[in-house]
Amino acid sequence: MAKILLFNPPGPEGKAYIREGRCTQESGVWATQWPPVTLATAAALLEKDGHKIKVIDFPAVKLNISDLQNVIISFKPDIAIWNTGTPTLIFDLNIAKIIKEIKQDIITCVLGTHVSVDSENVLNASSVDIVIRGEPELPIKNLCKEFPNNNWDKIHGISYKDKNNTKIFHNIDSLFLTPSEIPPPSWHYLDINAYKLPLKGRPFLILSPIRGCPFLCNFCTAQLYYGKKLRKRPIANVISEIENSIHKYKIRDFFIWADTFTADKKYVKEFCDQIIKKNLKISWTCNSRVDTIDKDILVIMNKAGLWMISFGLESGNDSILEQSGKNITIKQSKYAVISANEIGIKTSGHFIFGLLGETEKTMMETLSLALELPLDIAQFYTASPFPGTMLYDKATKNNWLENISSHSQSHSVINLPNLPAYKVDAFRQYAYKKFYFRKKAFLNILSMIEPKAIKNILSNIKGFLKWIIT
Ligand code: SF4
Repeated sequence: MAKILLFNPPGPEGKAYIREGRCTQESGVWATQWPPVTLATAAALLEKDGHKIKVIDFPAVKLNISDLQNVIISFKPDIAIWNTGTPTLIFDLNIAKIIKEIKQDIITCVLGTHVSVDSENVLNASSVDIVIRGEPELPIKNLCKEFPNNNWDKIHGISYKDKNNTKIFHNIDSLFLTPSEIPPPSWHYLDINAYKLPLKGRPFLILSPIRGCPFLCNFCTAQLYYGKKLRKRPIANVISEIENSIHKYKIRDFFIWADTFTADKKYVKEFCDQIIKKNLKISWTCNSRVDTIDKDILVIMNKAGLWMISFGLESGNDSILEQSGKNITIKQSKYAVISANEIGIKTSGHFIFGLLGETEKTMMETLSLALELPLDIAQFYTASPFPGTMLYDKATKNNWLENISSHSQSHSVINLPNLPAYKVDAFRQYAYKKFYFRKKAFLNILSMIEPKAIKNILSNIKGFLKWIIT
């Protein structure tokens, strides 16, 4: 049995970051901190094996690096495991050094999409002992079981240094958890009141009924984490997890964390039917692709508690949508957003500037689409060359990348032919101003705010205004 510390690290400059699979971004105006579902799911597997566990989401409870040092000193873990993200990679990897300075023999392990595809460099350039590649929970369970013998050669899905730090080994990939093996996350290790819906002010939890994404968007890292095959958890398990969240934590708000929740309409219908039949009275949001929904399913989802749906609309130009591998059309985007709006479901549209083939003209077409659609919320990103994506490979091959020691979806580092990165950044900022400085958009946001959220909203609006004005 081992003492294991699982954590989401503090961020550089005291900023809070979400580091969850394909989503690695600064927590901000609309991107509230999410309950760390990977860590809590790993904890559920580890507690079954009898380990002593601590799970800490440092940004969520506003703890910093010196708090982390104190935890290491007081808890004295045998194994420390933390998630990493592209925007914070250097900072995240340096944590291994901080831990080793306190206690050299703590086994340091990192997970995340970036380190999964760059494990050799990560191990060479840091004090990290083990990189957990891809879907992390099963390798975490197996490597913790192997303590204190530390025969890492038996553990699939990891890369590691030998005892003398002279050689790096890359074991074969791990199998994915089967749908029925995926346990409900052990949220009791975390302060769930630290996670509040931005506009509602109510605590919420992540619900993860489906893993995997069969689509081939060339800017996205989803498949590096959960693979391409859809793995659908048994509906009964998901419903029981909801019931447990209601009874144990008094939570009735959920964010459905699935790469594309609506990829299988039959499953979604069955899920919604069960919620309605059991009269669970929950409220939830989810992500979707515009080519995987129709009015009928949206009506059922709404009846089952869906109040907001997020669509990856990406671009307002069909050719860009095709070149990005997204393979949706503007017609489908319009149908999906308008349908949801007509049914009374709030909509959030996600757009990316700087995808392959982008020009100033196509960026303007994207903004026009965002302004034309009845969206309640819009998020504008810059295309980020995440390692392991085709976008990264193409940008590298063509020498389009600026210094990429650190980058994120809010700062472009790709100089496309005829479209320098700084123009993409400037346009993104312009798009935010054009979208939100409209009476209609302002009233939409106001209509969604609940009293409990006002304090949080006021502090966020201050940050938002500062950000878009400067
Ligand atoms: S549909 Fe595309 S963008 Fe969405 S998770 Fe799958 S690969 Fe990523």
